[in-house]
Amino acid sequence: MTAPLLPNGTFFFPGPTEVRTPVLAAMTQPMIPHRGAAFEALFLRMQESLRMIFGTRRPVYVSSSSATGLMEAGVRCAPPGRILSVVNGAFSARFAAIAQACAREMDVLEVPWGDTVNLDDLARRLRSTRYAALTIVHSETSTGARQDVRTATRLAREQGTACLVDSVTGIGGAELRFDDWELDFALTGSQKALALPPGLAFAAASEAFIASARGTPGRGLYFDLVEFDAYALKGQTPNTPAIPLFFAADVQLAAIAAEGMVARWARHAAMAERTYAWVDALGGRHGDALHVLAREGHRSPTVTSITLPESLTASTVIKAVKERGFTIGSGYGKNKETTVRIGHMGDHTLEGLERCLTACDGAFDGLLSR
Ligand SMILES: *Cc1c(COP(=O)(O)O)cnc(C)c1O
Repeated sequence: MTAPLLPNGTFFFPGPTEVRTPVLAAMTQPMIPHRGAAFEALFLRMQESLRMIFGTRRPVYVSSSSATGLMEAGVRCAPPGRILSVVNGAFSARFAAIAQACAREMDVLEVPWGDTVNLDDLARRLRSTRYAALTIVHSETSTGARQDVRTATRLAREQGTACLVDSVTGIGGAELRFDDWELDFALTGSQKALALPPGLAFAAASEAFIASARGTPGRGLYFDLVEFDAYALKGQTPNTPAIPLFFAADVQLAAIAAEGMVARWARHAAMAERTYAWVDALGGRHGDALHVLAREGHRSPTVTSITLPESLTASTVIKAVKERGFTIGSGYGKNKETTVRIGHMGDHTLEGLERCLTACDGAFDGLLSR
């Protein structure tokens, strides 16, 4: 190990997020066969927690890939026809790029970064053209904007359009109720609000979505959700799963389910509110030169993107925060140097966040008083 180890409680990166020691330790267990009773029992235990986390009675697919793999799965398995992609940041742009890379006819509904799509605009666009599917991001990790994916799904359904929801920094931190909201497809990754190591992705699809996918040609093989669905019903995965990550997930998903989703959403909301208040106070001390990028009322509870004054770059801020023992993230994509991001998700607490914000306070005050 060459890099110095920082203690848990200091890593406020917006993904991967901090992983608790017992969860890391679970990965050192000996291997088991993935076609056998022990694995099936583990898979079914995970299903119980995952169904609670997604708010669904449907199976939750577990892919040994990063989240992007299941974004591609959603696109490949979506009904044939034109796709509309709402783009309001780097990850929604990735969804659009996947649709394009899968040779789909597609249109982009572009929204300024930091914003969310206006739902009347979205409804109008969905009425104007016959779209087979809509791609949209619940919590745009590059900007900290939260989209109302429940209404977006309803608007899409009214036009016979399937809605694919990227909830990678949503599920497990921001409210999402797959069945109650009648979602078609939603996915997340292990390394964000679920506070697991990177390498797994999770998704649910409605029965109708899978039924339609059965008739869709060119779904590919590795990310075929029809296969995931069939195997999940047997307590298995289509191919060799990343077994150590499943051991970790077995421990962590049960802990999340034990906390309860309503409590978990409330904890994330409290951390987010505290972060906004801190940004306002800091900005107030420095001529309103810092603010939360996303609009009030449309902010993600898991990640806050902070617009920096022109005199500062993200690299300098991150370095100064690091010197005080904490890790936060730079901006993402075109906002890389003009914003910093604090990931307040996973297993972080309000008390832990307070320590991080105190370090950030010191860093900003030092830099801005020069
Ligand atoms: C992190 C992230 C992704 C990509 O996840 P990978 O696991 O890196 O493939 C996609 N969408 C959002 C919103 C994310 O935050």
